[in-house]
Formats: sequence, C-alpha cells, structure tokens
Amino acid sequence: MIPADHPRYASLLAREKMADAVRSGMVVIEGASAHGRGEAFDCLLGERTTPGAARAGKTAAAFLIRAARPVISVNGNTAALAAGEIGALARASGALVEVNLFHRTDERLEKITRHLEEHGVSVLQGTAERLLPLSHDRALCLRGGIYAADVVLVPLEDGDRCAALVAMGKTVITIDLNPLSRTARTATVTIVDELTRALPVITRSCGELSAQEADELIRDHDNTRLLREAMATMKETLTHAVD
Ligand code: ATP
Repeated sequence: MIPADHPRYASLLAREKMADAVRSGMVVIEGASAHGRGEAFDCLLGERTTPGAARAGKTAAAFLIRAARPVISVNGNTAALAAGEIGALARASGALVEVNLFHRTDERLEKITRHLEEHGVSVLQGTAERLLPLSHDRALCLRGGIYAADVVLVPLEDGDRCAALVAMGKTVITIDLNPLSRTARTATVTIVDELTRALPVITRSCGELSAQEADELIRDHDNTRLLREAMATMKETLTHAVD
C-alpha cells in the first residue's frame, strides 16, 4: 500500500502498476526498463505538463478530430498505465483502438485486450497482416485499423515503426518523455510529457476545440519548436538544480 500523501505517490503508483503488469504477463520486462528511462526524463521536466506539452496535446486533439480514420495504437505499457484514459480519448475523438506489440504473442494480445475491455475500451479485432515495412512483429497490423488510418496516435513508440508510419504518409502523434528519441524526432506531433498526464489533455481538447480552432492549430504546428521548448525546460532544470 502506497500512502496517498507520499511525495512520490504518482510515480510509485505507476511503478506498482508496471510491476503488476509484468507479473501478469501483460508487460515484458523490457517494457519496465523503458518506463524507467521515461521516469528519468520526467525528473528533468519537473514532473509536470509544461506549456509546450499542453500546446502539443491540443494540437494532437486537433489532428485527431479533423482526421477521417484516426487510430490509437496501444502497447503493453500504455495498457498497463492508462487503459481508462485510452478509453476516454477513444470516445472523445472517435478513434479506433488497436493493440500493436513489439514482443508479440497471442497470449499477450489476449491479456492486453481483456484488460482494455475491462476498462471500457472497445478494441478492434481481426486478423493482423504484415503490412508495415518492418522486419519485426510491429509490422503486423489490421488492414481496417492502423494500415488504413490517416492519423495514428502511438504513445511510447519505437523509432522504426514511427518512421515507417510517417513514410506511409500518415500523421503520427506520439507521447514520449525523451525528446531525443528517434520517435520524438520523427513524429508529426511529439508530446513531451508523461502518458497519464498527456492523455487527459488531449481528451479535454477534443471536446473543446471548434473545427476552425483545430484547423488553426494544425496550420501553425511546428514540431521542431515543441522539441526545442522541451529541451530548453530540461536544460533549465539542470542549470538551476543546485541553486
Ligand atoms: P526510439 O526507438 O524512438 O529511439 P527508445 O528505444 O529510446 O525509442 P523505447 O524503449 O522504444 O525507447 O520506447 C520507450 C520510450 O517511451 C522512451 O523514450 C521513454 O522515454 C518513453 N516513456 C516511457 N514511459 C513513459 C511514460 N509513462 N510517458 C511518456 N513516455 C514514456
């Protein structure tokens, strides 16, 4: 039991969720390691949603609500940490939800799908085909899902698949605490924020933005500027850490 007044409550709760998910087989041990990398970058961000990340979240919402076929791609870490938030965003944006895994087994697919469904998420089903130009199993996706999507939200992504989706002409939105990752630098919209903080920002904006506001956000979007702002925040944290 983690006491709610613990100063690192949110972080400890997330770790507990990850540990439970590893034990249940929903998350692979490599996923827990990726989570740790995220935590380190979150320290540099001050464990808060920066103004740049809030703008990125709004822009992500703009792309999602103006999309013809938006899809949210969910992996084990995302399901373990934010199943409820994924459901809320799917409902607010009209996006489909597809499970896509690097370490893919039928057993993990079933566990993650069941966990999402228990949290009110309607998960796209079907026979996955090797449709993306990748040599690993993230190439497997549904013809009526990620393959047909015009806008894909890929939280906690790996760089290869992000690049492949961009090369296919899709708008790719990612949530990644590491602004230096290949994914962060390749995506169309990079939200440098923690997953469970970022998703509600996007969901709220989906309900608030008018079509005209969304189009303006899309027109003014500059991902390099967002990445520079995130890096500036991190540099600032390091510069003043011992002041
Ligand atoms: P890339 O292939 O893009 O260079 P990578 O190899 O650094 O990525 P992966 O292990 O494929 O990283 O993906 C995990 C990424 O997700 C990491 O960059 C990590 O910082 C980030 N991350 C982990 N947990 C969270 C979280 N809860 N919220 C946001 N980002 C996270």
